[in-house]
Amino acid sequence: MTDNQTPPGWYPDAQGVQRYWDGTEWTEHTSADAASPALVTAYCTNCAALMDPSAPACTACGFGVGTVVNYCRSCGTQASPGQAMCLACGSNLTIYRAEEKSKLVAGLLALLIGGLGIHKFYLGYTNAGVIQIVATIFTCGLAAIIPFIEGIIYLTKTDAEFEAIYVIGTREWF
Ligand SMILES: [Zn+2]
Ligand SMILES: [Zn+2]
Repeated sequence: MTDNQTPPGWYPDAQGVQRYWDGTEWTEHTSADAASPALVTAYCTNCAALMDPSAPACTACGFGVGTVVNYCRSCGTQASPGQAMCLACGSNLTIYRAEEKSKLVAGLLALLIGGLGIHKFYLGYTNAGVIQIVATIFTCGLAAIIPFIEGIIYLTKTDAEFEAIYVIGTREWF
């Protein structure tokens, strides 16, 4: 690889290792470096088990990523609820914490003033909220039966179910 016209890219070097060629010379970057970011491990923020960083939920405890942050995601050090930064590695813990949404608040909003779609907005379902308002107006209030049923469904879920389905998940209707 002495041809300076070779465009920058990954090529096998003299040792057969994939190495980054910057267009004029070999760099220190080999495929081992390039692959390592994908292999970075993450810790479950609920039980501190090592997990695949791209997995939506921990295989050890089943908790969805971002539900609770009892442990640092990057180093597994224990953290207290509400702690903003890991004391061991300095990583930001707030980005892994889902915004807390109360089942009770959503349920009561749906039951009491559901026709206004406020419970949808509360859960972050803006489109569904707008649709609910329009539906309520066009049916002269009849569509308010939908949020009434939704409110009952919300309140019969456990907190964990509610969080999994409506806060981490995005089930917009029922
Ligand atoms: Zn876990
Ligand atoms: Zn940490």
